[in-house]
Amino acid sequence: MFSRLTELFLKFPGIGPRQAKRFVYFLLRQSPAFTKSLIDEIEHLKKDYAQCSSCYRFFKNSGTQKICDICESSQRDSTTLLVVGNDIDFENIEKSGHFKGVYFILGNTLSVLEKEPEKKIRIKELLRNIEKRAKAELKEIVLAMSATQEGEYTADYLKEKLSPISKKYSIKISELGRGLSTGTELEYSDTDTIRNALERRIG
Ligand SMILES: [Zn+2]
Repeated sequence: MFSRLTELFLKFPGIGPRQAKRFVYFLLRQSPAFTKSLIDEIEHLKKDYAQCSSCYRFFKNSGTQKICDICESSQRDSTTLLVVGNDIDFENIEKSGHFKGVYFILGNTLSVLEKEPEKKIRIKELLRNIEKRAKAELKEIVLAMSATQEGEYTADYLKEKLSPISKKYSIKISELGRGLSTGTELEYSDTDTIRNALERRIG
């Protein structure tokens, strides 16, 4: 039953076949007004948001703007670039209000067995971004990864890949301090934990 919609829900992160079916049954029980507003919201999402061509975050975009307000703002400290794994980590750090620099979103983190890391994270784009910023005033790159095995592996991979460019332009590479205890995902960290991790960064 309803196999097409179930299959679409199966594509959502963390959703298995049982949950996908539950979503479909849930929708069947809702009022027409609910389904209409769901459809409208989904349609608007793609129209109202764009992906920044510099940091790769999604931002509310009314026109043809390609660069987000954070990348463009003169109020942000462009000497410090903070690299995060995904959009939710970015959101959490930005919400904490303790970071005033600029961001880069990798789009993913790497697992130890990853065979083609350059296809899973935006490493080429990151190098291009750093090259551009280095000529301006970039002084420090903060690797803000979760204190998990994947996060640590990704940080090690990045350190190796960024080493030549950091030497070339004398850019410091640092990591979040372990205000984040082992196993902590940035996504679930509170404001104080993020502030501590930023203040005690190592490198
Ligand atoms: Zn941006």
